[in-house]
Amino acid sequence: MRFDYDVIVVGAGNAGLTAASRTAGAGLSTVLLEKNNLPGGFAASFVRGRFEFEASLHELCDVGTKEEPRSVRRLFSDLGADVDFINEKKLFRVIVKGEDGYDVTLLSGEKDFRRSFLSVCPDDEKSVDRLLRLLDETGRAIEYNDRKNGKPNKLYMVLKYPDFIRSASHSIDEMLIYLGFSDKARLLLETYWLYIGVPADEANSMHYLEMLRGYINGGAGIPPHRSYELSLSLADTILKKGGEIRYNTEVTEFIYKDGRAIGVKTEGDEYYAKEIISNIIPNNVLNMSGKHTREKDRKLLNARKLGMTFFCVFLGLDCGREELGIKDYTVFIAKNSSPRRQYEDEAGIYVVNCLNAAVPCATPGGTCSLVITIPVFDPDILSGVTPENYKKFKSDIAKKYISDFEAVSGIDVFSHIEEISVSTPVTNARYFGSPEGTAYGYEMSRWDNLMSRILNRENELDIEGLSFCGGHGPNGPGFGVTYISGVEAADAVIKRIKGVK
Ligand SMILES: Cc1cc2nc3c(=O)[nH]c(=O)nc-3n(C[C@H](O)[C@H](O)[C@H](O)COP(=O)(O)OP(=O)(O)OC[C@H]3O[C@@H](n4cnc5c(N)ncnc54)[C@H](O)[C@@H]3O)c2cc1C
Repeated sequence: MRFDYDVIVVGAGNAGLTAASRTAGAGLSTVLLEKNNLPGGFAASFVRGRFEFEASLHELCDVGTKEEPRSVRRLFSDLGADVDFINEKKLFRVIVKGEDGYDVTLLSGEKDFRRSFLSVCPDDEKSVDRLLRLLDETGRAIEYNDRKNGKPNKLYMVLKYPDFIRSASHSIDEMLIYLGFSDKARLLLETYWLYIGVPADEANSMHYLEMLRGYINGGAGIPPHRSYELSLSLADTILKKGGEIRYNTEVTEFIYKDGRAIGVKTEGDEYYAKEIISNIIPNNVLNMSGKHTREKDRKLLNARKLGMTFFCVFLGLDCGREELGIKDYTVFIAKNSSPRRQYEDEAGIYVVNCLNAAVPCATPGGTCSLVITIPVFDPDILSGVTPENYKKFKSDIAKKYISDFEAVSGIDVFSHIEEISVSTPVTNARYFGSPEGTAYGYEMSRWDNLMSRILNRENELDIEGLSFCGGHGPNGPGFGVTYISGVEAADAVIKRIKGVK
């Protein structure tokens, strides 16, 4: 059958949901096509026995409180989605093993962050104050940029926000050295941020400053009913605004006419629209575009490296967290204090989350859950895996990391396991269609970082009638950014369709 709309959105991940909500809200006939049977993409949950496990989210950055909402809360309320986020004061605890190791918990809020940081790095007072000033300047620079709709006066930026501009062309490591931090303090400030996907001697400091500012000022945001609650509430806004969502509808081909994308094919149906927004990664779109791909676009995608992915071990335990002695919501455990080593060494770093520490009733009374998330920077780790040994491979991963966590924390996990499930990059590739199971789009490498992508926006993949949104976009991965990228893509489409200059 043939269907006609103003806008087709492909993929109901975070960005696809906000994009469809926005175009439907602007009165454009909108259909959102999703290959799975539920919204959210990575922002979902699943049930094993008595436990509902969060599939991805640890914490959202830049949420703020009801009284002082920040970008994510504002975006949800603008779209009409009503979610009451929990604001977790403890940003994270880091345990670094070994002789130069430490165990520290950093808090949100400028004063508390400073105090918690200085409790382990007392000699770094001047540097931390310089960093806080730089974060403040970053905030003002970003607000100015937003006021100018992303087209700031460059000379004004240089004169008004010189330290922010200077830091933007350096790595996190270079920036922290410039601020005069001791080695210990620098490595502590860098550890969490390996979650940008590359180590601090490579990751761009502008990205770091923007995120760190969001965490310190806005706290760590957690939806009480897991990220699926966010996805469902956004899906509801689409339906309320008259948009349509078709689940179990996989797009298999993009249709072009005279170089312009005009529609998509699914099994048995064809959908046509004035504009298409793809929440699916450009690699897959080009693979579904046949001869309509251009050399220039293929080159760009070939040059980019796919971003990091994860192993996750989901554990439902038959005993409450207090009884087990679990105090924290987020604990990073690193073998070595150097992010470069954490990146290059196998099992260099992993994170353990106990949702009950933030949401006490997250699991049935007398139980709790733990999720161990292990970043995978090198997909070759799966090279020896076959269908025959896949089960054993997953079980070995689970045993290895549970044992390590037991040794570091002294907490008995093994004898309390009631449910266990392990996801790998293969799971991601299968459920979300992401190449090599990437959960982060493309790696934010030294040459292809936030700054260079923003400055080179005009060289991004650009197909008439087809725009992109999601963690594979210029602003990179993460919940907050992907929500925003959906809104940005939708606003550009609305302008084009309505002919607004
Ligand atoms: C284990 C893990 C932990 C994470 N932790 C955090 C965290 O704590 N904080 C944070 O900010 N970020 C975190 N992230 C990253 C975050 O989840 C992602 O950046 C974000 O969810 C990606 O959203 P997206 O809009 O790019 O879409 P995706 O989630 O990639 O969704 C794309 C959608 O498109 C659909 N689709 C694919 N192909 C087709 C097709 N052919 N036809 C129709 N539909 C299709 C998919 O089914 C999916 O629903 C984590 C990710 C993982 C995996």
